[in-house]
Amino acid sequence: HPCSLRNVMQSLVHEFSMKAEHKGLRLRSHIPDVWVNTDPTYLHRIVRNLLSNAVKYTEQGGVIIAARKRGEHILLQVWDSGLGIDRDEQSKVFNDFYRVENRMQRGLGLGLSVVARLGQQLNSPISVRSVSGKGSCFWFELPMCAAEKQVSDVSRVNKLGLSGLTALVVDD
Ligand code: ATP
Ligand code: MG
Repeated sequence: HPCSLRNVMQSLVHEFSMKAEHKGLRLRSHIPDVWVNTDPTYLHRIVRNLLSNAVKYTEQGGVIIAARKRGEHILLQVWDSGLGIDRDEQSKVFNDFYRVENRMQRGLGLGLSVVARLGQQLNSPISVRSVSGKGSCFWFELPMCAAEKQVSDVSRVNKLGLSGLTALVVDD
């Protein structure tokens, strides 16, 4: 399914901007005008769950959703300057019903297991990099439709603000 990345993201960015603002957080988005080959319904759900967590587990700073070209793919990243996840828990958070203990936010512990399953279905496994107390970045890649040339690079992401998050930049 060719779909416009911006089209799929637009309503989500709007919705979670309001939720972020409500908590005094910033939400920045940098989505280039590209077409990707993926199931838009699955993609929408993955990003919804990631943005929901990013806003929920962040108390100061904010959230960035950014996409950029990487080879034949689009790398999609959701960053936050939130609580972070300890190294030994980073693989477990994708398990059904797994929740990090001693946190006041409520939930079932299912959001990321849905993300992981949908990522598998799309052949786009979801990765996480996180520093406890500093923030998290979840990312995955989507196949770009042919003839897409538009790129954005990580320096643009950094310019969007949220200093400190640059330490989490995912290597090429
Ligand atoms: P829900 O089913 O409503 O999504 P949940 O948010 O607790 O509940 P998951 O989304 O699966 O469940 O996340 C699992 C756990 O991973 C969370 O309980 C939370 O502690 C941790 N976590 C997930 N995303 C983040 C994040 N961006 N920053 C910090 N911790 C996170
Ligand atoms: Mg969740």
